[in-house]
Amino acid sequence: MQKIMIDLDETIVMDGYLKAVNDYKNTNYKAEDIDTYYVEDILGEEKEAFLDHFYKNVNIYDDIKELPNAISTIKDLCKYYDVYICAAFVDPRRVLESKVSAMYKYEWIVKNMPFIDPRKIILTGSKDVVMCDIKIDDKVSNLKKGYGKVKLLLDHKHNQKYDFEDLESLGIRRVYNWDQIRSILLEGRE
Ligand SMILES: [Mg+2]
Repeated sequence: MQKIMIDLDETIVMDGYLKAVNDYKNTNYKAEDIDTYYVEDILGEEKEAFLDHFYKNVNIYDDIKELPNAISTIKDLCKYYDVYICAAFVDPRRVLESKVSAMYKYEWIVKNMPFIDPRKIILTGSKDVVMCDIKIDDKVSNLKKGYGKVKLLLDHKHNQKYDFEDLESLGIRRVYNWDQIRSILLEGRE
């Protein structure tokens, strides 16, 4: 069975960090307004205060949106593939405080994807050492390093700086939604 490694934030769930910034600043930014990987980079000098607040008070998974059809597609992928959820939790800007992110991510995955064997939840800071055949992520650097014969990049504003040729040279294919992932990985199997 081929192994698939699937990222969590902005791959299965979305806009959690955006909501945290909007709640903190009382703003109404939309995902299409943000072209940086870290949403909080738009805060400028207020970023450090936001990070202190964030790690003390916010669990983005309390109220987070799923990318349409992500969970149901992953459930079906489990019939044909060996599926691992691999989420980075180490924030180099707040090393000790990062431990709460690991707990929140683990809790959300266990509660919302009970069909995933909890032993196949990988919380790390080094995704590139995890051996797999297929990777699904929204961050190019997570896809270009390490293992994987098939590398699918979820389309987001923050990864638009990579054009088709850039991605092709890295062996990465841009995908726009989970229905497309379903057709790539499950067509002909169901
Ligand atoms: Mg991600």
